[in-house]
Formats: sequence, C-alpha cells, structure tokens
Amino acid sequence: MAKHRSSRRNATRRTQLIGLTAALAAAAGTTTVGLSSSVTGPANASGSTGLNPSQADALTAARIDRRDLGSRDASRIDLSLASTRKAAAETAAKQRAARLAANATLTQRRALALAAAKATAAKKAEANAKALAAAKKEALAKAAAIKAAAAPKIVLPTTGYHLTARFNQAGGRWAHNHTGLDFAAPMGTPVRSVMAGEVIQADFEGAYGRQVKVRHADGTVTSYSHMSEFDVSVGDSVEAGTMVGRIGMTGNTTGPHVHFEVLPGGGSPIDPEPWLREHGLNP
Ligand SMILES: [Zn+2]
Repeated sequence: MAKHRSSRRNATRRTQLIGLTAALAAAAGTTTVGLSSSVTGPANASGSTGLNPSQADALTAARIDRRDLGSRDASRIDLSLASTRKAAAETAAKQRAARLAANATLTQRRALALAAAKATAAKKAEANAKALAAAKKEALAKAAAIKAAAAPKIVLPTTGYHLTARFNQAGGRWAHNHTGLDFAAPMGTPVRSVMAGEVIQADFEGAYGRQVKVRHADGTVTSYSHMSEFDVSVGDSVEAGTMVGRIGMTGNTTGPHVHFEVLPGGGSPIDPEPWLREHGLNP
C-alpha cells in the first residue's frame, strides 16, 4: 500500500508540477501557510485549498524542490557575492598596484628630475668655478702687472763699495750707536738716490758733512752723507739711480764713504740692510 502510494505520488508528481507552478507563483507569499494546513490531511487539504491529495502532495514536493532551489540560489548568491567581492578585491588590488606603480613611476621621475637638476647644478657650479678661477687668474695677472709697474725701482746708493759700518754698531767715531750703513768707495764715486722722489735737503749737516735727503712716494726718507759735492738741489725730482753727489770725506769720517740712512716717514732711522732686502737688494 505504501509502496503503491509512493509510486503513484512519484508518477503524478511530475505531471502535476508544471500545472502547479503557475498556482504557486500566484500564491507566492501566502502559499506556505495554505500548504502547511493542506499537508495535515488530504481532506483538509482538499477542503481548504481545493486541491486533491495528489495535487497537495505534488505541491509539497514542489515546495521542497523550491526550498532546495532557494537554498541552491542562496548558495549561488553566496557564491556570486563571494565572486563579486573577490572581483572587487582583485579590482581594488589592481587599482592599488596601479596607484603604487604610478607613485613609483612618479617617484622615479622625480628622482630622475632631481638627479638631472643636480647634474645641471654641478655642471653650472663647475662652469662658475672655472670662470671664477679664470677671473681670479686674470685679476692676479693684472695685479701683478700693476704691482710690477708701480713697484718702486730701487738701486744701491753707490757701486764698487764695501760695507765698513753697520746699523747700531758701537764705535768711537759716533756719539751714539751707528744710525746708518756705510758704503766705502773711492773718492768721487757717484752717489745715487736709491728710489724716485723729491730732494728735501742738500746742505752741510755738522758731523754728516755734505748731506742730501730724498723723500720717496711712501714717505720714507733716505739720506746720503759725507759727500764731496752736491749734484741736486732742494725741490728736485729724482729717479732711482739719479746721481745726487759723490763719495767724499766731509763731516766726521776717517775715510771716503757714503753714510746711508733710511728714515720711515722722515722719523727715526731704521736698519737699512733689511729695508734694502725687502726691496729686493742685497747690499
Ligand atoms: Zn756712517
């Protein structure tokens, strides 16, 4: 009996299913309640819904199928959602990667631009340094030329001499220590102004005998004493090497020589030897 019913049910189930789909669709939402009551008994089912037992069974089966389908649909939705999320995640990842790549490219571009700018700056700096060096060299050359042109030409006060007394030397001939440098040379040997300047004295000066003083451009005064004659007068302009007199023995002296003094600013005498050396001469 049960077997027969089951097979009958199976047989009718498929044939009824198609016809019932429309009814199910029409009863959507409320069918569940109706079906619940219908499955309690064939009489009730036919009474409340107007379905015969086989139809009710088919409806129940359809409901189960529908539930299964729904469940599968839900799974499909889950799957679909999962795949959508996965796709979204992939898209986001791709976008992120693209952004990173763009950023990386931008960073690289910036780095390249920076490197290029640095290289340009370095080149510019090098060019500037070269230009500066060239300018400096030129300026130095000009300064050297000016210095050479402006450098006071200097000569020793006489020739064919030997030094007989040095600066600050003590001796019986002087009241105080020696105030100059003595160049001993034969009588009549020319005495010359060591540098260009103006004659500020040409006269007898006590123990110094015949004395000439020349003031130079920097204010230094040089003096030449014990000479036998004057060859310049006060106010004369002289050049380095201009003859101002001759070797003599006037004033306090034991032999022919020129007593040479250097007086910075016309003040107290200093040692002529280092002064001459500073000016490139080695007496
Ligand atoms: Zn002297």
